[in-house]
Amino acid sequence: MGSGKIFECPECGNRVELYEGIGMMWSHFDTSMFYPAKKGSCELNFYGEINKKIIKEAQKFIEESEIARVADAYLQSYICEKCGKITTKLYFRIESEKGTYRPKYFCRCGCKYRRMTKKDEKHLSCSKCGCKFPEPMELNWD
Ligand SMILES: [Zn+2]
Ligand SMILES: [Zn+2]
Repeated sequence: MGSGKIFECPECGNRVELYEGIGMMWSHFDTSMFYPAKKGSCELNFYGEINKKIIKEAQKFIEESEIARVADAYLQSYICEKCGKITTKLYFRIESEKGTYRPKYFCRCGCKYRRMTKKDEKHLSCSKCGCKFPEPMELNWD
């Protein structure tokens, strides 16, 4: 199950949809252990839109480990530290004896996205015209 929020700018009509959680289509993560001894056998099966560079990075992390596993994966709202743009990305964690891999996402403005908090949600504004977003419309999905 997951939930979504739809923000609509009253000034310019800019519409932003945010989704969080794990829905049906996201529940097929391969959470089995990866034993990269078999080089090239590691294949991360992430459905939906995900940056190819991130997948490559994650696969490299796995291949350099003895044993690795996908510890967590869900949709998460992110906010750009600089321009305030909000978006939905796949958050995941891969753990191995080397440590933990988490994806780093970057906004078009070049700045890093960070995970959004409840506090951020109260101060969101439209990234197109700067107008403050009113309360979002909420929805549930699976
Ligand atoms: Zn606007
Ligand atoms: Zn930005």
